[in-house]
Amino acid sequence: MTYPATTGESSAAPGHGPRYERSAVIDLDAIRHNVRRLADAASPAKVMAVVKADAYGHGAVPVARAALEAGASWLGVAHISEALALRAAGIDAPLLAWLHTTESNFGAAVAAGIDIGCSGWELDRIVGAAREQERPARIHLKVDTGLGRNGAALDTWDQLVGEAMEYQDQGVLRVVGIFSHLAVADEPERPETDQQLATFREVLAVAEDAGVDPEVRHLANTPATLSRPDTHFDLVRVGLGIYGLSPFAGQSSAELGLRPAMALRTLVSQCKDVPEGQGVSYGLRYRTTSASTLGLIPMGYADGVPRSATGGPVRVAGRTYPVVGRIAMDQMVIDLGATGVEGKDLLGAEAELFGDGADGGPTADDWARAAATINYEIVTRISPRVPRRFINEEDRSAASRQEELS
Ligand SMILES: *Cc1c(COP(=O)(O)O)cnc(C)c1O
Repeated sequence: MTYPATTGESSAAPGHGPRYERSAVIDLDAIRHNVRRLADAASPAKVMAVVKADAYGHGAVPVARAALEAGASWLGVAHISEALALRAAGIDAPLLAWLHTTESNFGAAVAAGIDIGCSGWELDRIVGAAREQERPARIHLKVDTGLGRNGAALDTWDQLVGEAMEYQDQGVLRVVGIFSHLAVADEPERPETDQQLATFREVLAVAEDAGVDPEVRHLANTPATLSRPDTHFDLVRVGLGIYGLSPFAGQSSAELGLRPAMALRTLVSQCKDVPEGQGVSYGLRYRTTSASTLGLIPMGYADGVPRSATGGPVRVAGRTYPVVGRIAMDQMVIDLGATGVEGKDLLGAEAELFGDGADGGPTADDWARAAATINYEIVTRISPRVPRRFINEEDRSAASRQEELS
């Protein structure tokens, strides 16, 4: 795989602030921009910013704050423990957690005012927790409309709704929401989204007949928010889009009006001249075809770069090179080839694995292709060994400046 050489200012020059050894730079202005873009697409439905898995690797607390500043009205996570961490950071926005085990701490969730997704078996435990806390639980009933993961099976829906309403009448809980999750919204030409939508409407009707009056009915993820207004209902749950990435195979971030928020950067840590036929990295799967210069990139699979992503792009000094040979735990290699680069020249130069792609630089999408995976996985798997550095932490948008003045 080859990448076109791009021109641009030497990345060894400053311009990205201090030169850190390794960082995932998170642009909170990009997060705000993307939330506004998705809120526009979703309007009049509201936006739940999904910040599970440490905000897909971007940092849950700063991303949650930026998303709320930009108009998200809810936050969503998978685990109650993730929700508790947001509460501990002082975030008091409406917050839903939807994936539980028999060991999940429902009591702590009720005490912290966290909304709890309920697929069935959790109901009695949630009620027990609410009684113990002497505080009504807030639940969102989840139905499986075809994804085949969590959510109540359709033939248990009547009973679940009936039991939930009994508990609501007793005052131990409130059914705040009803929701489901789509399976193929990233492939808009497939028919199953229509079927899931029809099923969702049916289960909503059943719930309404049983007296449920939810604040929010929600079904859409990022791809449905962008391509299927008929799935928006009262609230959309957007993850990938707020990080500026495209869920569609045929459309880029820019085409969707989104800005990738994470850039992954390090510094060239060695640069050396080698003869023709030099083998590179474990297994010696690559050999130089002429005398050349190898650049050592000090990141590997312990940093979350997929081991399978040989060929992935690294931009150094305005040119983009594919990784050659195996990616190891801590390091990988680029072949600077016949670029006229002298061995020592690039020691310490900035190496960008991916960024916002705006100037033709490498993207998380490129790495997803190299690793035969999806962009969701590329950003989410960047490991804690890579420090997150947040830029544009202050919201400088006109609206918030206005508020400061008034
Ligand atoms: C992760 C998740 C989302 C967000 O999906 P995106 O495709 O990233 O927008 C929404 N809803 C549920 C239930 C999820 O698990």
